[in-house]
Amino acid sequence: MPLGALACEKCQALLYSEELARISTRANSLEEQDNLTQAREEWLKALPLLPPTSTQAEWIRGKVYKLELAAKHAPAHPKNEWAKKLGPLAPVAILLAKSKVLLTALFKLKFLLSLGAFMALYWSLYGAAFGVGFVLLIFVHEMGHYIDIRRRGLPADMPVFLPGLGAYVRWQALGVTRTTRAAVSLAGPLAGFLGAAVCAVMWYKTGSGVWAALASATAWLNILNLIPIWVLDGGQAANALSKTERFVLLASCLALWAITGNGLFFLVAGGVTYRLFTRDLPPMPSPKIAVYYVFVLAALGSVLYLIPTQGFGQQ
Ligand SMILES: [Zn+2]
Repeated sequence: MPLGALACEKCQALLYSEELARISTRANSLEEQDNLTQAREEWLKALPLLPPTSTQAEWIRGKVYKLELAAKHAPAHPKNEWAKKLGPLAPVAILLAKSKVLLTALFKLKFLLSLGAFMALYWSLYGAAFGVGFVLLIFVHEMGHYIDIRRRGLPADMPVFLPGLGAYVRWQALGVTRTTRAAVSLAGPLAGFLGAAVCAVMWYKTGSGVWAALASATAWLNILNLIPIWVLDGGQAANALSKTERFVLLASCLALWAITGNGLFFLVAGGVTYRLFTRDLPPMPSPKIAVYYVFVLAALGSVLYLIPTQGFGQQ
């Protein structure tokens, strides 16, 4: 057989049949997993192993072309159809967990198991009372989303906790208007405010510092979550706001910053300023969402303003 020949000229047996079989197995299983781009690449590896005029090579070229077309028409990130409702601590989560494998594994965590792991971490960091309280308050935030989604008759999963990072509720956001999505996003921080307010009342009644710490920490994290960027609740909420409404939001943030002296509002204002320049304006204004947004920010700000705790973004 001449060097470089790919098939025996007499019997036409393919020289690399074993390797070809492996490639086709891998490519087929990739295709089954909807991993069309990689399946295509796998098939491409087979081409140099086949005589270019063979029927197999012809078949693979057709296959590669079909996969290319299918990959183009498939949504690039089908998971994005699920709006991920992120808890106050979650932004870091998704950046770190960008790898889909890790995310998929995390999705499979049972609700109670994840809640337990999450609690254990805060328990070790802040002591039992703060740990349990803080996790419950994040749960309250997530239940705000959950209840609002279910109230609208949309399906949603129970919140999943990512230890050390936050929590989120998965829900089907397909065919839901920007205004609805914005309202669902704001329901989390609104519930967070209610939780923080209860803690503030408990602090007022008992004078116990752990209630003050819980109220402040919760208010702080919920405000942080209202920075209108990326997948934060604020980011989703701002999607529904017109340019004028974004200006109103900016002015409100600056006013809250001036009144409370809390730099958190400056951060939110920074995010809003950025959203003045992004080209993602909705077709219709949503004045109710703008009012809702400002109200939740002001309510959370009032908790921080009234609770004399140091350390959580307030001096
Ligand atoms: Zn949220």
